[in-house]
Amino acid sequence: MNATWTMYDWFADSVARHGDREIALEVAGETLTYSGLDALAARIAGELVAAHGGTPRRVGLLAARSTAAYAGYLAVQRLGAVVVPLNPAWPPARNATIAADAGLDLVITEDGTDLGTSSVDLPAERIAALRTGPVPDLPPSGAGPDSLAYILFTSGSTGRPKGVPIAHRNVSAYLGHVIPRYELGPGSRVSQTFDLTFDPSVYDMFAAWGSGAALVVPDKKELLTPVLFVNRARITHWNSVPSVASIAMRLRALRPDSMPTLRWSLFCGEALTLPHARAWHAAAPQSVLENIYGPTEMTVTWTEFRLPADPADWPAPANGTVPIGTPYPGQEHLVLDESGRPADTGELVVRGTQRFPGYLDPADDAGRFLRMVDGVAVVHDGEEPLTRDHWYRTGDRVGLLDGALVHLGRLDHQLKIRGYRVELGEIESALLDLPDVVEAVVLALPGVAGEVELAAACTGGLDDTAAALERLAARLPAYMIPASLTVLDTLPLNANGKVDRASLTAELGSAHTG
Ligand code: AMP
Repeated sequence: MNATWTMYDWFADSVARHGDREIALEVAGETLTYSGLDALAARIAGELVAAHGGTPRRVGLLAARSTAAYAGYLAVQRLGAVVVPLNPAWPPARNATIAADAGLDLVITEDGTDLGTSSVDLPAERIAALRTGPVPDLPPSGAGPDSLAYILFTSGSTGRPKGVPIAHRNVSAYLGHVIPRYELGPGSRVSQTFDLTFDPSVYDMFAAWGSGAALVVPDKKELLTPVLFVNRARITHWNSVPSVASIAMRLRALRPDSMPTLRWSLFCGEALTLPHARAWHAAAPQSVLENIYGPTEMTVTWTEFRLPADPADWPAPANGTVPIGTPYPGQEHLVLDESGRPADTGELVVRGTQRFPGYLDPADDAGRFLRMVDGVAVVHDGEEPLTRDHWYRTGDRVGLLDGALVHLGRLDHQLKIRGYRVELGEIESALLDLPDVVEAVVLALPGVAGEVELAAACTGGLDDTAAALERLAARLPAYMIPASLTVLDTLPLNANGKVDRASLTAELGSAHTG
């Protein structure tokens, strides 16, 4: 039964079924069949074992949109080790922090980057050499359903990225639902729009490889022109953040019926607005359109809302977004009000087979889980052991419309910027580490075309704000760098003595628009 499979088992099953008859991967001008990709992954796995002197426990993957990235991911899975994707677009200091926090034995690189950890470098020439030759004998994978499959690091409000480990059984529960739902199989051609550091990439890779479909990877430039990519690559299954549709819409690329090959269009990672959904639907009227939702902690996505074929039948929530819908089978949810009692509108808390086992650093668990005792929530203080009965607090505020959950926003200072999860607290903490900064606040202001723009304010003796922002850029990804930094004498406070974010938003917002 595939509920007990590891991630590699899903791929191996397709290798056994399809061998050289089906394409598994198209990337950077290269095409690999299932057998070809399997053999390459095994040869890379051999390199990892040789470099480490045995099976490594946790392996970083600093590679993107290349054969090395995908075959490297599979090589780590083949060994039953835990893969920790890193991002070549992030500052090396952030990747090095993650490598240290994750306790990596090895890092796979493509350009020899040194993160202070042993590494196996796989530039294109090395990959070309590994495409042929004998397949090494490898130690058997010791992974089972409760072993960790991957660890992803998300923005952390305390100033350090937070490690989210996901077990194989979480992934199997997820794949067991999405593969049949989206009718994936041989002949399906699946887009790969997400960074490997963002978990919908697990859908791209393993919904494809778990079903015998082809994973088709656009290069960075093609990502900006989705209609051209879909047509060039004859994509049948699309999945991206709504921001990609928004860019295409702004460039007037979403012309009626312009993506005839698409059968399925999925959007996730941030709110899908009705205008974006309408424009995509007009461009791909033969495709079924779904909004799917979930935090990394619940394994990719765990609610779904299928839009009816006729837009005249679409729901119209007051906030103009497509509902996030209903939970997948096997997942449970509650909506709790501020007093911790079930309500129609409030915080969404969740558990079930897709719930992660707890943060890599158990200190991060405190406050993020709860138990229901006599119908009232008791928040996890981090002392007692976490069990599968604990509910994970998503921090998302939801309501209900005709039986479907509607996303109403966040209850904290987490937000999405072009699909990237950002804790304002992490940026504030990085600002506070700069010399001459005494207090710091980061706000999300409405930017151009409905997108969010970050504005920072600080007190202290800072005189060169451009230099300060440059120092932030050495530590944080580009999407976390505020567009402006204003030095104030004092920060406005509210009646409780806390920073008055509303009045600061008005002040910085008017400076911003004026
Ligand atoms: P991540 O862990 O990066 O997947 O981010 C998870 C968060 O993104 C959720 O808790 C939501 O706040 C937001 N999110 C994800 N999918 C959706 C969606 N379909 N609609 C609205 N918000 C979403």
